[in-house]
Amino acid sequence: MTDTTDKKIALVTGAGRGIGKAIALSLAKEGHHVICVSRSESSCGAVAEQILQEGGSAESLALDVSDATAVECACAELLEKHSLIDILVNNAGITRDNLLFRMEEEDWDAVLNTNLKSCFTFIKHLARPMTRKRWGRIINIASVIGLTGNAGQANYAAAKAGIIGLTKSLAKEFAARNVSVNVIAPGFIQTDMTNALTEEQQKSIVGIIPMKRMGTSEDIANMATFLASTKSDYITGQVFTVDGGMVM
Ligand code: NDP
Repeated sequence: MTDTTDKKIALVTGAGRGIGKAIALSLAKEGHHVICVSRSESSCGAVAEQILQEGGSAESLALDVSDATAVECACAELLEKHSLIDILVNNAGITRDNLLFRMEEEDWDAVLNTNLKSCFTFIKHLARPMTRKRWGRIINIASVIGLTGNAGQANYAAAKAGIIGLTKSLAKEFAARNVSVNVIAPGFIQTDMTNALTEEQQKSIVGIIPMKRMGTSEDIANMATFLASTKSDYITGQVFTVDGGMVM
C-alpha cells in the first residue's frame, strides 16, 4: 500500500533555533503540519507562530527531550490528537565539550541523553503507527564529528556515532514496512552552537572546509526536506554528510 496524500504531520525536535528551525520552516512550506518541539515555549512557539503567519500549519510543544518519561507522555498525547506522525526529525542537540580527564559524568549523561537517547525515545513511541500505515520517514541529525571523532568532544562524538548505529539498525527493522530511517551528518553550520566558538576557532574551521565557508541551516533543511519527501522513496539506512566537502 502506498500513501498518496501529500500533506503530512511532521515533528521536529530542537525546532526553536538554528537547523531545527530551518527544517520546520521548510517542511511547512511543503504543506505539512509541523509540530515544533524545543526546550522553551518562547523559541518553539515563535517558530510555530511564524509558520502560521506565513500561511502554514503548525503547533508548538515545549519539552525536555532528554526526559524519557516526559517524551513518552507527550508522544501518547500527540498520537491521541493526530493518530500518527508521518515524519519525525530528531534534531535537538547540545554540546558540553571538554578533554576526557576534565569531563564530568554529568556532561557525558546530558549530551548522551539529549542527543542520542532522545532519538530512541521518540522513535520507540512514534514509529509503530508509521509501520502500520506502511509509510514513514525518520531523519536523525548526527554530525561529521560522529564519523571522525574530535578531541574535546568524546561525549558528543559518541552520541553522534551512536545515532548512526541506531539508524542503521532501525532502517533494517522498518524497511519492509516502508518506513525509512536516515542520518544527516552536518559539518560546521552557522548557528548559535557554532557562534559560541571564538572568532579564531571559527576562522581555523573555515580554513579546513574545502568550500571555504560554514554551511547554513538551509543547507541542512534542503537535505531533510528531500529525505522527508516521496523523492527519497528507495533510500534508507544512509548517512548524508552535508559539510562543504570536509569529510570525503
Ligand atoms: P542550536 O543550539 O542552534 O539549537 C538547538 C535546539 O535544540 C534549540 O531549539 C534547543 O531548544 C533545542 N534543544 C536543546 N536541548 C534540548 C532539550 N533537552 N529538549 C528540547 N530541545 C532541546 O543547535 P544547532 O541548530 O546548531 O544544532 C541542531 C542539531 O544539529 C544538533 O543535534 C547538533 O548537534 C547538530 N549539528 C550542528 C552543527 C553545527 O555546526 N551547528 C554541526 C553538526 C551537527 P531551545 O531553543 O528551547 O533552547
